[in-house]
Amino acid sequence: MKDCIFCRIVNKELPTEIVYEDDEILAFVDINGLAPVHILIVPKEHIESINDLDDKIGGKDLAGKLIMIAQKIARDKKIASDGYKLLFRVSKHGQQEVPHIHLHLIGGAQLEENIGVA
Ligand code: 5GP
Ligand code: ZN
Repeated sequence: MKDCIFCRIVNKELPTEIVYEDDEILAFVDINGLAPVHILIVPKEHIESINDLDDKIGGKDLAGKLIMIAQKIARDKKIASDGYKLLFRVSKHGQQEVPHIHLHLIGGAQLEENIGVA
């Protein structure tokens, strides 16, 4: 999608530090990391949010794949055993800023509890 920042990253129109890529998925370092490791894992296809996943587009496979790639990156970054957070923000109340599905992988240090009612 032309005006989507993550589609532009997928199409290599914007510079970014890529940590994983296959036919369907790209993972890259968050520009404004909240922790020593902060990676965004995105489908290459433009899908707005978790609300748009269904069986017609293989939603279960895609959701599973995003999580399994997060697990692999956590292992590669050697943060798996200490632990990390995985986060999907969804739409307005979920504070999703970029309307292209992305799974946050956040870790590399002890994290605080910081998700609550605004
Ligand atoms: P959201 O709030 O939608 O869950 O998260 C969007 C994330 O995308 C934020 O953590 C933000 O720092 C990151 N982000 C926004 N624009 C860019 C960009 O141009 N490049 C990269 N690498 N990350 C971005
Ligand atoms: Zn997009």
